[in-house]
Amino acid sequence: MPQRIALLGGTFDPVHFGHLRTALELLESTAADVLHLLPNHQPAHRGATTASTADRLAMLECAVQGASGLVVDGREAQRTGPSYTVDTLAEFREAMPSATLVFCMGLDAFSGFTRWYQPERILELANLVVVDRPGAELSEASEALLTRQCERLGTHIRNGSTGVIARRSVTSLAISATRLRADLAQGRSVRFLVPEAVREYIEQHGLYDESS
Ligand code: ATP
Repeated sequence: MPQRIALLGGTFDPVHFGHLRTALELLESTAADVLHLLPNHQPAHRGATTASTADRLAMLECAVQGASGLVVDGREAQRTGPSYTVDTLAEFREAMPSATLVFCMGLDAFSGFTRWYQPERILELANLVVVDRPGAELSEASEALLTRQCERLGTHIRNGSTGVIARRSVTSLAISATRLRADLAQGRSVRFLVPEAVREYIEQHGLYDESS
C-alpha cells in the first residue's frame, strides 16, 4: 500500500493546542499514516522567531509524547537558509516516490500561498488541505486559486495524488502563538492553552520572558 504522509509546517513559537488538535484531526480526516510537524529554521514568509530553533524543537518533542501518528520532523529546522516548502516536499518525493503527500495549513497561511516560493511546483508534488482557523479569511488570490482548482479537479483529495486543494473544518480553537508570547512576556499564565510539559519547559528555560 502506498503511504499517505501529512505534513504541517510552521514556526511553533511555541506549539499550542490549536496546532496539536488540528494535527490530530487532520491525521484522521486525511487518513494519513503519519503527520509530520515541521518546524522551520528561518521562516521564508516572516521575521525571526522568538525562541531558538532548538527550543522550538524541544517543545514540540514534549508536546507529541504519547500521541501516536504525530512525529516531529527536524529537517527544515536543520537548514541554515530560509525554509522553502517546495524543497521539503521534493525531498519527501525523492525518498518515497509512490507516497501521497498532503501538505496542511491554516487558512491564514493559505491566504499568502500564491506569494510562496514556487507554489505551482508545490501543487505538482502534493495535495493541499486548508483548515479553517478562527478569525482568518481567504485573500482574493487564494480564493481564486481554490475556485480554479475545484472546477478542474474537485475537492476530494483522494481524486488525485497531487494538485488537489481541499478545505476542511477542525475543532475551532482561537489560540495563537503571537498571543501566547504576549501573555508570557507580561507574566500571564498559558496553562490549558499549551500541553503541561510545554508550559513547564517554557518556565524552566525562561522563554518569552521579557524581563529575563
Ligand atoms: P503566530 O501567531 O506566531 O503566527 P501561529 O499560532 O499562527 O503562530 P504557526 O506556527 O505560524 O502558529 O502555525 C503553523 C500552522 O498551524 C499554520 O498553517 C497555521 O495556520 C496553523 N495554525 C496555527 N494555529 C492554529 C489554530 N488555532 N487553529 C488552526 N490552525 C492553526
